[in-house]
Amino acid sequence: MNTPGCDIAIIGGGPVGASLALAMRDSGLNTCVLEARPAQAASNDARALALSYGSRLLLERIGVWDALHDVSCIRTIHISQRKSFGRALLHAAELNVPELGYVLPYPALQGALDKALQQDAISAIYGASVTQLRGADDRATIEYQMDGAQHTLHTRLAVVADGGKLLAQQYPPEVRDYGQSALITHITCSSPQADMAYERFTSQGPVALLPFQAGYELVWTAPHQLAQEMLAWDDKKFLDELQHHFGERVGDFLTVGKRTCFPLGLKRAPQLTPMPHTVLLGNAAQTMHPVAGQGFNMGLRDAWELAHEILNAAPEALGTGAMLASYCTQRRADREAGIRFTDGLVRLFSNDLPLVSAGRAAALSALDCLPFAKRFVATRMMFGANG
Ligand SMILES: Cc1cc2nc3c(=O)[nH]c(=O)nc-3n(C[C@H](O)[C@H](O)[C@H](O)COP(=O)(O)OP(=O)(O)OC[C@H]3O[C@@H](n4cnc5c(N)ncnc54)[C@H](O)[C@@H]3O)c2cc1C
Repeated sequence: MNTPGCDIAIIGGGPVGASLALAMRDSGLNTCVLEARPAQAASNDARALALSYGSRLLLERIGVWDALHDVSCIRTIHISQRKSFGRALLHAAELNVPELGYVLPYPALQGALDKALQQDAISAIYGASVTQLRGADDRATIEYQMDGAQHTLHTRLAVVADGGKLLAQQYPPEVRDYGQSALITHITCSSPQADMAYERFTSQGPVALLPFQAGYELVWTAPHQLAQEMLAWDDKKFLDELQHHFGERVGDFLTVGKRTCFPLGLKRAPQLTPMPHTVLLGNAAQTMHPVAGQGFNMGLRDAWELAHEILNAAPEALGTGAMLASYCTQRRADREAGIRFTDGLVRLFSNDLPLVSAGRAAALSALDCLPFAKRFVATRMMFGANG
């Protein structure tokens, strides 16, 4: 079945694809979002997201921030490494921002974005699973399955925001396997510290506690095999092991919620425009380790910059090589810096070599004492390399 063509087709209405559609809502362009999830189906993704202050500003601009409820604030980040001295504290007040970041469940963000798409009457087709994408000189062609039928859609610009599966076979990403999985769950403890997030580096991988409601969202990174075993521990064993691993900073760990595991790695598409009239966005462009909470924050900046590029393009330039090359140039510094920063953190901290450990401790102490270093790191985390 042939669907009438559109100016822009966004493959994947996840957090990044939906944000792009909303950022272009006043463009007058005919935009269509193809999302594999069925209509009205809430996402059941268990992860919590830490959003930076910069992402809050972008979500305000696309009109979604006020619709987000149950958002917890991060005003201080405590960074330390296990079995070593040296720690750094980043405070919002020192950096002249009201908050460093925010924590909310992925489904809450997705729900608010879905609702905004509906309210704006943006053409979002749910239950549409894209199976093929082809680029040609004048347009891209998308094949998708819906209700058991095959559909074809022609577009001047196909934006791939599907998280990275559709083109992975045809255009394999560069992959770095860290050998780690992230176990995520909600925990409560006896002495939660208001608005404070913790990032603790260990040789197994980082552990993060993100303040959420009365407790914390825990992201506990470990080698794949151990992470699978941790899923099966009973609650008491899990809490005891966490206490031993994390220490006493938030008192005793009291309860643990449902546990879920995600394999981690770095995937980086070598080209953001692998075929004509096509561009990759968000996790489809780069999937990063969650250690620095950069994934969605970076994807949102991708979406914002692409919307800007589209809105500034002459009508006949939409989806052309020149327009897409300009977008790639615009994103290069931020994307490369974000990938290097995240990858560097994981590799630098995932070992127990005594000399390296001492160097890291000294670096954390230096970060704590040097205002310009703090400002540099915090600005990168909040706003990316393009500021
Ligand atoms: C454990 C963990 C913790 C994380 N924590 C953070 C954090 O604190 N902060 C942060 O910024 N990031 C974090 N991230 C990263 C963040 O989750 C991702 O960067 C973000 O979800 C990427 O959004 P996306 O829209 O690009 O892709 P996705 O979230 O993967 O969404 C893709 C969408 O495309 C749809 N889709 C897929 N295939 C098709 C198809 N063929 N046809 C149509 N639709 C399709 C899917 O249904 C989905 O809705 C974390 C990741 C993990 C694993």
